[in-house]
Amino acid sequence: MSAVAEAAPRRVAVVGGGWSGLAAAVTARRSGHEVTLHEMASRLGGRARSAPHGELLLDNGQHILVGAYAQTLALMRLVGVDPDAVLHRLPLTLRTPDGAGLQLPAGPAIPAFVRGVLGWHTLPWRDRFGLLALAARWRLAGFRCEPHTTVAELARACPRSAYSQLIEPLCVAALNTPAEEASGQVLLNVLKDALFGAPGASDLLLPRAPLDALLPHAAGQWLQAHGVAVRLGDRVERIEPDGTRWRVDGEVHDAVVLACPPREAARLCATIAPDWSARAAAMVYQPIVTTWLRAPGARWDVAMLALRSNATRPAQFGFDLGALGGPRGLYALVASGAAPWVEAGPDATREAMLAQWRHDFPAERHGPVEWVAQRTEKRATFACVPGLQRPPAAVAPGVWAAGDHVAGPYPATLEGAVRAGVEAAHRAGAGV
Ligand SMILES: Cc1cc2nc3c(=O)[nH]c(=O)nc-3n(C[C@H](O)[C@H](O)[C@H](O)COP(=O)(O)OP(=O)(O)OC[C@H]3O[C@@H](n4cnc5c(N)ncnc54)[C@H](O)[C@@H]3O)c2cc1C
Repeated sequence: MSAVAEAAPRRVAVVGGGWSGLAAAVTARRSGHEVTLHEMASRLGGRARSAPHGELLLDNGQHILVGAYAQTLALMRLVGVDPDAVLHRLPLTLRTPDGAGLQLPAGPAIPAFVRGVLGWHTLPWRDRFGLLALAARWRLAGFRCEPHTTVAELARACPRSAYSQLIEPLCVAALNTPAEEASGQVLLNVLKDALFGAPGASDLLLPRAPLDALLPHAAGQWLQAHGVAVRLGDRVERIEPDGTRWRVDGEVHDAVVLACPPREAARLCATIAPDWSARAAAMVYQPIVTTWLRAPGARWDVAMLALRSNATRPAQFGFDLGALGGPRGLYALVASGAAPWVEAGPDATREAMLAQWRHDFPAERHGPVEWVAQRTEKRATFACVPGLQRPPAAVAPGVWAAGDHVAGPYPATLEGAVRAGVEAAHRAGAGV
């Protein structure tokens, strides 16, 4: 796509080459600005990147996209990636290894949800109607609740079976925060746009290529082909005012997009925007652990399963990577909201993951299993708690924040990161 100037060309520095910074750099360049992208790591992609592990290329953690990720999918297309080629689309399923769990049929959102719940054969009829009644009440209330309500409080009237098999797994998957601590309002925002949004919005889009191939690689090539200076291994140390402009490690720019995580953004603007910096520095995080296992004899008939997690079983979801274009027999188990497992340590987590696999997929039917790798991202996402004051996009005149943590309706997701990057680039380019 050719660059289209929408304002007088400006010099824009983007700090951070995760999905938000990539979105910002592409957007600013398309608007005709002169862009420099600084990324401290040796590769682009931030928390959603891939890295070699022996002969395997493993992601930083298993990711799920959903049909409602409109701006992410648009950005992928713009840099030359065909989402249909790299993502496996299927109607929302939370199927468990024993065949229980909600599965939505394809089609418009509300009829699909009603049909899915009515057909949820492992749930007693009374619970199916109870769940539909609760969903109807949320919709009638405009998907709004008191800001300090937790997900557990919001769903107090939910039948317990539907709570443990639908609300809790959705909450931990989308908000990466346990339901007792998570924001009810943010969950309602997600349900409104994904579960009750446009047709296909709730579809799961499971990567069938490493995350690098979904965006970072193609975005990096697009940026270089369009004259953007992409500086890898370049950690920005200082941002200082220079009249109405800004010096980024000594180089003068008209505007800066801070697309680095909150702590680093807080450090960089501690003197230029102390209040913003304090708010960003105060954010707390939730970890995610992904464990890869090899089980050549295992047979799943869907690519993703919801797993029953509890105090001794870490993982809430499992993925058959062989069915998703990866090496045959390779599986990923994911534990979100995994603070207790980080505390227990990597060895205990690994043993618990293996024990959970053996319980759910016994060797008599699925053959032997061996451990392959484990990645723990201690600061995977911010803890999405009720009433959280997230830092706004405006940092200082000409300095804009991007990233999944910037104030907005969604939890920390790829779509939140991309939206914030696009928005920051428009503002930086407009000179407001
Ligand atoms: C294990 C895991 C699983 C996840 N699962 C999902 C999922 O299923 N679905 C979903 O939508 N989201 C998921 N997420 C969240 C998603 O990955 C993030 O929301 C998204 O990647 C955030 O992008 P970002 O650009 O805002 O931040 P980041 O990816 O953190 O990018 C910030 C970049 O800034 C760079 N940087 C930092 N400081 C500097 C500096 N001073 N100078 C230059 N560069 C700097 C960093 O190296 C990094 O590349 C998951 C995250 C993790 C960790």
